[in-house]
Amino acid sequence: MQFALILRKYLALAWLSLLPLGVHAWGVVGHRAVARIAENHLTPKARREIAALLGTETLPLVSTFPDEIRPYAEYKYTSPWHYINTAPGLSGAQYTAAITAMTEPNAYAALQQMMQQVKDPAKSKEERVFALKFIVHIVGDMHQPLHASQSGVQGGNQVAVKLQGKDLTCIAFGTAPSSITKA
Ligand SMILES: [Zn+2]
Repeated sequence: MQFALILRKYLALAWLSLLPLGVHAWGVVGHRAVARIAENHLTPKARREIAALLGTETLPLVSTFPDEIRPYAEYKYTSPWHYINTAPGLSGAQYTAAITAMTEPNAYAALQQMMQQVKDPAKSKEERVFALKFIVHIVGDMHQPLHASQSGVQGGNQVAVKLQGKDLTCIAFGTAPSSITKA
């Protein structure tokens, strides 16, 4: 099995083991925990391929890269890669049809694109590393509540919540370290 597919499989499994932590866990700690668990389940071949791409860096270390570059103008185009929104109440088949038919940038399309890019020998090492960093991040994001949600919420950015009298977006609330203990 191609190493990126193996990685995706284990990232999904890694997420399942984090379920009890709930929505508050995502942020640096959440992404790195997902990546660490995935790393522990890599096949020797996948581990070698990843080491060849990342050098001294590790999957947990690079898992937050897409969030770190997101504020910069030159990476603005990657903002929609962190979430996917669909109409509410879809069946499994309807959901699959909806996300595969989507034409605007989204997490699912970006993951497909990055999966191609990471294994493409015609791409530069830099492009393949970029793709790997996004794969480890997007799979984590896609499993976070509100990052795969209804149209209009933009990964939680458009959902207003109040925390101790303070107005926040839901995503700011969910990733604020203080919300882990104060929620
Ligand atoms: Zn993200």
